[in-house]
Amino acid sequence: MSEQVWFSADYSQARDRFLEAAKAAGARIETRENPASGPDGEVLATDIAFIGDPDAESVLLTFSGTHGAEGYCGSGVQVGWLRSGLWREAPASVAQIHVHAVNPHGFAHTSRTTEDNVDLNRNFVDFAAGAPVNPGYETIHDILCPTVWDDDAADRLAARSAAYTQQHGTWAFKEALTAGQYTHGNGIFFGGTAPSWSRTNVERLLAGHCAGRRQLAVIDYHTGLGPRGFGERIVDHLPGSAGYQRCLDWYDGDCASPHLGTSASARLTGQMLDAIEHQLPDVAVTAIALEYGTQPEHEVISALCADNWLRFHGDENSPRGRAIKAQARDAFYQDADDWKQMVFERALDTQRRAIKGLTS
Ligand SMILES: [Zn+2]
Repeated sequence: MSEQVWFSADYSQARDRFLEAAKAAGARIETRENPASGPDGEVLATDIAFIGDPDAESVLLTFSGTHGAEGYCGSGVQVGWLRSGLWREAPASVAQIHVHAVNPHGFAHTSRTTEDNVDLNRNFVDFAAGAPVNPGYETIHDILCPTVWDDDAADRLAARSAAYTQQHGTWAFKEALTAGQYTHGNGIFFGGTAPSWSRTNVERLLAGHCAGRRQLAVIDYHTGLGPRGFGERIVDHLPGSAGYQRCLDWYDGDCASPHLGTSASARLTGQMLDAIEHQLPDVAVTAIALEYGTQPEHEVISALCADNWLRFHGDENSPRGRAIKAQARDAFYQDADDWKQMVFERALDTQRRAIKGLTS
């Protein structure tokens, strides 16, 4: 395998490689340009590669970059899958849709959130019905989002987080932090106040190309949680549901459920995978997030908080700004051969199982 040439050093290179690989695979490509531009003025876009019969009753659907900077990982997997010819393993009855850089602004700026500071994977809520509430976040916002970020900021964050967890428990801190919040637009894990540009794209894709199919296997690539290099298959289908059972069958029980407390992830609100199932009630959706670990959790949280400070109080082009961006990249992507190999092997096994599940 040549993982090294599939994983890219920045968004532009990733985009070029994806388009090239998709073309080489004979894919039809659709591009949705984001109104904003990248840090060097580059075009930002979500590119979608379609392979196979547009009327096939089964579809393998993959996403990279739902969380912007996490796209370094998912892009590498998609490029490798297409570039190496592995995509040919899918039979004619299974079409493929690979969505590259769902959140291109975050990918290009090495940030987890969108151009609106929205966590796309908390944004799929029914805003008309009222956003979910997360009272725990209110109590930790000031700890996470200080107005000053200096050399001691990470230590202060660690000390204050430790004090909070001592009082309320580790899991309570994790839920308050990551579940999603809809009140602090300058905070982290902010789900927004309206559907984001990226969400609207996903919904258009589902309505135009996935409705009317019989079944859909979805794999959404993420990073930053769990042991380094390990890919946890997170299933958010409710335990006992048909979708949950299919995940257990397809992945041989090697799944983790936030509902059962067996996942590194807390239960979240406004998730994309739940919304896909909701938008396509007549399609058998079998969806997982494949979540790869990078660094210890406290380091990832520190990188997130630093990057949030940078967006609202700092300058990306200052020495501190560049250091924070490097820190953010390491938190969501390990530019190391062993990590890339672990990522790709697990992804390959997962996509093969998904295709087998769609054909069994
Ligand atoms: Zn993620």
